[in-house]
Amino acid sequence: MIRFDRVVKKFGDHVVLRELDFTVKPGEFVTLIGPSGSGKTTILRLLMTLERVNEGTIEVCGEYLSHMERGGKLVPADEKHLRRMRKRIGMVFQQFNLFPNMSVLQNITEAPIRALGMSKAEAGERARDLLDKVGLGDKVDAHPMQLSGGQQQRVAIARALAMEPDVMLLDEVTSALDPELVAGVLKVLRDIAEKTDITCLCVTHEMQFAKDVSDRVMMFDQGQVIEDAPPEKLFTSPEHERTREFLHAVI
Ligand code: ATP
Repeated sequence: MIRFDRVVKKFGDHVVLRELDFTVKPGEFVTLIGPSGSGKTTILRLLMTLERVNEGTIEVCGEYLSHMERGGKLVPADEKHLRRMRKRIGMVFQQFNLFPNMSVLQNITEAPIRALGMSKAEAGERARDLLDKVGLGDKVDAHPMQLSGGQQQRVAIARALAMEPDVMLLDEVTSALDPELVAGVLKVLRDIAEKTDITCLCVTHEMQFAKDVSDRVMMFDQGQVIEDAPPEKLFTSPEHERTREFLHAVI
């Protein structure tokens, strides 16, 4: 679960998020669309704890992320709280950010061993299982450079899943891929959406991708969600004039 409650984020005088409210329910796959500069990445950066809210609160899985409770009061989260919460959040980016000098297997086992204290054997077993699930069971010993962009992105997804996150953040995960490689990544994400109870929040410029994978699409403009509907509704009969204009311009 992710909940933004009256979140304000400013950069200097520039208000990027204006009392933003939205909820992503447990297990839902929600996609954020909207014009460039509207604040979509800022939402993900707040969830990654790379930015702090100016006002309002953010919850993840029923616990405050932006804040913590101290002596019955809500105070801004300290680094220890953020470190603990970050373990529940997985991230996949446009640029896969795999470690180039490590094998595929090591890329996936590194964080569970280091951050979760998992044994090498257990982490290895789980990594192999995840690689099977993303269709790369035969690439365990390969290095990232030997893989296609689509394969590298599937390794990056397996790496995020290896941390058993409650929430996954996906930032333009298919944008750097050649069109013929998108389908493999899409299939993996659909499996996550359908077969796991991981809550996913995804930012994309690719409307077909949003249509194919989302339970719900949120149209975001000028710091607020202006329309929020299942993809079959939002892409065929949007209610808001701004959504119609945006879709007309990008599709
Ligand atoms: P795009 O679709 O192009 O990635 P976006 O919707 O993700 O855009 P953001 O990257 O969240 O938009 O940016 C929202 C606004 O906040 C933009 O006007 C941007 O210039 C501004 N902004 C983002 N980060 C900073 C920062 N660190 N300092 C100052 N302004 C920032």
